[in-house]
Amino acid sequence: MLENNSNSLNTADVQAIDAEHHMHPFTNTGALNKKGARVITHADGVYLWDSEGNKILDGMAGLWCVNMGYGRTELIDAANSQMKQLAYYNTFFQTTHAPVAELAKEIASVTPGDLNHIFFANSGSEAIDTIIRMVRQYWSIKGKPYRNILIARENAYHGSTIGGTSLGGMGGMHKQGGPLVPNIERIRQPYWYGEAGDMTEEEFGIACAKALEEKILEVGPDNVAAFVGEPIQGAGGVIVPPANYWTEIQKVCDKYGILLAADEVICGFGRTGSWFGCETLGFKPDIMSMAKGLSSGYLPIAAVAVGDRIANAFIEHNEDFNHGFTYSGHPVAAAVAIANIQLMKKENIVEYVAKDIGPYFQKKLREAVADHPLVGHIEGTGLIAGLALVKNKAPKELFGDDIDIGMICRDHCFANGLIMRAVGSRMVLSPPLVISHAEVDELCEKVRLCFDLTLKSVS
Ligand code: PLP
Repeated sequence: MLENNSNSLNTADVQAIDAEHHMHPFTNTGALNKKGARVITHADGVYLWDSEGNKILDGMAGLWCVNMGYGRTELIDAANSQMKQLAYYNTFFQTTHAPVAELAKEIASVTPGDLNHIFFANSGSEAIDTIIRMVRQYWSIKGKPYRNILIARENAYHGSTIGGTSLGGMGGMHKQGGPLVPNIERIRQPYWYGEAGDMTEEEFGIACAKALEEKILEVGPDNVAAFVGEPIQGAGGVIVPPANYWTEIQKVCDKYGILLAADEVICGFGRTGSWFGCETLGFKPDIMSMAKGLSSGYLPIAAVAVGDRIANAFIEHNEDFNHGFTYSGHPVAAAVAIANIQLMKKENIVEYVAKDIGPYFQKKLREAVADHPLVGHIEGTGLIAGLALVKNKAPKELFGDDIDIGMICRDHCFANGLIMRAVGSRMVLSPPLVISHAEVDELCEKVRLCFDLTLKSVS
């Protein structure tokens, strides 16, 4: 029987119902239905349990979101009491409520610079759609409606609404459900290990910024609304750009007066050892999206933090911004997000990631697997890391299409009590920020074991 389940379904019952009625995201439904989904029953701290009683270390914090770990009573109680007080009211028709106002203030207390005006959504994708519409409308307000091109990067992930899909650089997504939103352009990603050839990291950082400038000149500087990027690409495989990349990108945006948008859906809320990834990576966005870690994934909520340049244009413009969602600033989700930010502050979690557990995790991971025959390169900062699996380290040789090395490795992880995600041939980690030293040790031992098993599978 499943623990913590209000009914008495066993694993096979849940799998059968799931196969009959549930369509999973980013999943080959037919193949999954034949196999049966793994059933997760409950969780505590950094661990999950499945319906077969297996205890699993969650090296991905759910989907990069359960930053404060599972089972936090502070967040559960916040939802409970807010639901009793005011379960729902909207923020459309000149109304507000205390949780949404307070949350906007809490967010503004941790955002950098003048990103003090907060627009609410429910998911990262909706936040990205909000950015697309808001930056275009900003230029329209400024009398330049033709300035509506957004520039993003190959292999970026910005969600799966039509806006997020169009802005993102995922080829597999572009092939489905089109046509895409027009007036979106893309430049190369800053993936040094994979795509820089003989260039040093510094040279490559400059080359990537030059690619942005060339694209701007190609489409015409006066047609570009904004450049959008994740500080560190997450779903693309945890790609940490060269140290000079974002400074160079910022210079180009400033030169042409182009808005700079940071997609902080993964990097926000402490993941990189600062409240937001742009602080770690050294740039100053005009606008940024956030979701996931905002509520530690306990309830769906997202936001766009808007700086003075954009916000003041809207505030001074005597017209509605025709955009928003039924659940923009949902009071229960807002109450949980407030409790989450306050808990992060109380437990000094950002400092813990910056000065203690982040450096410890990065060091232990390298000690555990940097010398492993499968590991070509490790990159990461704070509590996010990506590992490139290769057939041969030097000279670098990648696995061919005949071997799905990432999936083989991911399956070994699943079978050995570790959740680690595969992105092509890259393995990625993003554990809850509350992970302890002993749990990092356990995680790194499991990574080593699973890499050994993966090597055996392909030898
Ligand atoms: N932006 C980034 C950087 C993301 O990583 C994600 C999701 O992983 C999204 C946007 C979309 O968020 P959601 O899945 O909540 O719509």
